[in-house]
Amino acid sequence: MNNPAAQLQEAPLPVLTHYIGGRPVASSRPTFANVDPATGQVVGHVHEADAGIVDQAVNAARAALRGPWGAFTDAQRADILRRLADGIRARFDEFLAAEIRDTGKPAGLASHLDIPRGAANFDLFADQISNSATEAFRSPTSDGGVALNYGLRTPRGVIAVICPWNLPLLLMTWKVAPALAFGNTVVVKPSEETPSTTTLLAEVMNAAGVPPGVFNVVHGFGPDSAGQYLAEHPGVNAITFTGETRTGTAIMKAAAAGVRPVSFELGGKNAAVVFADCDLDAAVAGIARAAFLNAGQVCLGTERIYVERPVFDAFVQRLKTAAEALRPGDPNAEGTDFGPLISREHRDKVLGYYARARADGATVVTGGDVPELPAPLSGGWWVQPTIWTGLPADSTVLSEEIFGPCCHIAPFDREDEAVAAANDSPYGLATSIWTRDLARAHRVAAAIEVGIAWVNSWFLRDLRTAFGGAKQSGIGREGGVHGLEFYTELRNVCIKL
Ligand code: NAD
Repeated sequence: MNNPAAQLQEAPLPVLTHYIGGRPVASSRPTFANVDPATGQVVGHVHEADAGIVDQAVNAARAALRGPWGAFTDAQRADILRRLADGIRARFDEFLAAEIRDTGKPAGLASHLDIPRGAANFDLFADQISNSATEAFRSPTSDGGVALNYGLRTPRGVIAVICPWNLPLLLMTWKVAPALAFGNTVVVKPSEETPSTTTLLAEVMNAAGVPPGVFNVVHGFGPDSAGQYLAEHPGVNAITFTGETRTGTAIMKAAAAGVRPVSFELGGKNAAVVFADCDLDAAVAGIARAAFLNAGQVCLGTERIYVERPVFDAFVQRLKTAAEALRPGDPNAEGTDFGPLISREHRDKVLGYYARARADGATVVTGGDVPELPAPLSGGWWVQPTIWTGLPADSTVLSEEIFGPCCHIAPFDREDEAVAAANDSPYGLATSIWTRDLARAHRVAAAIEVGIAWVNSWFLRDLRTAFGGAKQSGIGREGGVHGLEFYTELRNVCIKL
C-alpha cells in the first residue's frame, strides 16, 4: 500500500459539496470527515446539509420538472441514460478509486460488481423506457356506443433517493436510473459513509446533458440532518429508500404526512438450505460468497445455513476451509479478496454479536476475532470471517441482522423442518436452495417466504426481474417493468367515442 501518511502531507484532502441545480453548493454547517475503512484514516471532508440546503435542492428539482426536462420525449431520456452509462464507463478508474476509498472493498470486487452495475443500471432503464406499453380497453356504453380507456403513465414528480453504504454506486443508480427514465427529478442523499461516487455522478450528469436541477445531491446524516429533512420535505412526492428496517420505519412515519408513496429495500436475515443430494462443491462455493462477499455487508447475504444431516460435517469443514482461504489486505493489491467493515461503529456492532454468540454457547468453527494486519491496515475496521455451530434456536444471533462476515450452520432432518426454520424470521428478503431434485427445488422455493429465491445459485441477477423483500425486508418491487408502479402515476383516460 502507498504510504497514506505521506500522501496526506502532500495533497490537500478533497472536500465534497452538495450538488444543486447543476452546480456544487457549500453549506454553513461544519464539514464531517470521510474515513477510509481499510486504514481508519481521514481521506476527505464532506459538507453537511441543513434544512435550508435540502429546501434548495427540492425546489431545484421541482423547478426542473417544469423546465426542458418535462418536455423530453421517452427517446430523448433513453438517449441521456445511455450517455450516463457511457459517462461512468469513461471515468471508470475515478469511480473505482472513489468507491474503494469510501468502502475499503477489494478492487477486484468493485471493478467487477459496483462500477459496471452502476453503468448497466442506466442501460437497463433506457431499454425499459423504450419498451413500456400501457393497457387499453374498448368498453360498450349504455347508449349503444363505445368508450376507449387507455393508461397514461406520468412521472410522480420529485423523488427522494436515500441510500446505504454497502454498494453505494450500484444501489443509488438502481433507483436514480428508473426515476429519470420515467421523467422524474431526484434529490439523492448518499450514506454519510460513502459520499464520493454520488458526487462524481453529478459531474457525469452535467456532461451527459441532464438539465440543471434534474439530479441533486445533499450530503449528511439521518436524524436531524439531510436524511430526515429530505424525508419530511413536503415538496418531495415519493421516497425510495434502501437501508435498515428501523430507518424505514422512521421514513415511513415522515412519508405519512402528505400520504406519500414509499419504495423500501430493507434488512434481511437470509437462510440457505442445503440438501444432501446437492452438488456440494457448488453449494460450498455459492454459500461462501453469500456469507463473506463484501465482508458480509450484502443485504442478500446468508447468515443462517441449514444443512441436511448426512452432509452437515462435510459442509462445515469445507466452508471453514473456504473462509480461511480469504485474504484480507490492501484493497488495491492483487489477490486481496476480503475487505474491512464500513466503520468503527459497525465493527463494534459485529464484534458485539461475536461476543454474544460465544456467550450463547456457540462453537466457533473459525474466526470470531479481529485479524492481525500490518500498519496502516491495523488502523482499519477489520474482523475475521466467522462460522458458528451449536447456537440455541432462540439466540438473537440467529434472529437479528448482523451484516458482517459471519454465519451459523445448523443440521436438519426433514424438508418441512428446514422450511420452518428458514421462515422463522421477521425478515424475508432472499434465500438460496441447494438440491438436484427439481420437484423439491420448486416446492421449497414456493414455501420459503421471501422476495427472491435462488436455486443452486446466489446473487444471480437479471435486472429485468422483480427485486424486493417480503415481511420486514421491504415494500414494493423495483427492477424491469415493476419499477413503473412506484416511479410513475398510472392515469386512466376514458374517451366516449
Ligand atoms: P441505514 O438505514 O442506517 O442508513 C441508510 C440511509 O438512511 C443513510 O443514507 C442514512 O443517512 C439514512 N437515514 C438514517 N436515518 C434516517 C432518518 N431518520 N431519516 C432519513 N434518512 C435516514 O442503513 P445502512 O447502515 O446504510 O445500510 C445497511 C442496511 O441496509 C442493512 O440493514 C441492509 O440489509 C440494508 N440493505 C438492504 C438492501 C435491499 O435491497 N433490501 C440493500 C442494501 C442494504
